[in-house]
Amino acid sequence: MKQMIVATGNAHKVEEFQTLLGAGGFELCSAWSCGGMPEVVEDGDSFAANAAIKARALRALAPADAWILADDSGLEVDALGGAPGIYSARYAGESASDAENVAKLLTALDSVEPPRRSGRFRCVLCLIDPVGREFSFAGSCEGRIADVANGASGFGYDPVFIPDGHEASFAELGESVKAKLSHRAQAVMALRAFVAEQA
Ligand code: IMP
Repeated sequence: MKQMIVATGNAHKVEEFQTLLGAGGFELCSAWSCGGMPEVVEDGDSFAANAAIKARALRALAPADAWILADDSGLEVDALGGAPGIYSARYAGESASDAENVAKLLTALDSVEPPRRSGRFRCVLCLIDPVGREFSFAGSCEGRIADVANGASGFGYDPVFIPDGHEASFAELGESVKAKLSHRAQAVMALRAFVAEQA
């Protein structure tokens, strides 16, 4: 079976990708399989650029025959000109908690009425094959930002993101709904189609 190393030290993220990707002929493992994820400066100007930075950093350490997968994601809010965007993880500061980021977002949207609270989660995956070729897969999930945080499932901005077609936040809807709708699920679907061609 081919090995795909995910550019993360987080076993939960690897599991999530393996579930979304299915069997597909690839065995996924974390960066710990080749010494851990190296420190990288995510100074790209897009999700795609930051995913590529992480993938290339790991490529340099991984066995030559391994495939490398990295992701970058975030939330874009239209009324904020696309912010927090690539700064989603550190919107309220370098080591901000999810709760601090959410609080800053709700404050920034304080005077913004519902029709203008639209936005989307985006995810871009960068895959590098053993020959060094790079492939990019993108996914997005449209929705709007709630007035208050609700729900306990998920992470990040899930308590304030209401996906289109629903009246509850991702954090209220839970993982099974999110696994079908999310930006990450959409991007992995594109990756899955590509991987099926490689088998
Ligand atoms: P990354 O780990 O560099 O991709 O940072 C992504 C950041 O965007 C996270 O820290 C979250 O704040 C936010 N984010 C990305 N995907 C999600 C999601 O599915 N739910 C909630 N927040 C997300």
